[in-house]
Amino acid sequence: MKCVICGRKFSGYGNNAGPVAKGECCDDCNLKVVVPARIGMIYADRERSKKNVTRKNSTGTCR
Ligand SMILES: [Zn+2]
Repeated sequence: MKCVICGRKFSGYGNNAGPVAKGECCDDCNLKVVVPARIGMIYADRERSKKNVTRKNSTGTCR
């Protein structure tokens, strides 16, 4: 298998590289690139909705 992120060949099962790339990536890229990107997306999503919902409250203490 070939990693769609770093382009290296790897053995065993690949990981879904989405949303970073389409295809399979190696464990290394999964841990270093894909997982952080997913977490980042979740946070970005939260931040966005937080701003929309609690625009009046700038302290960020309310949910
Ligand atoms: Zn890789």
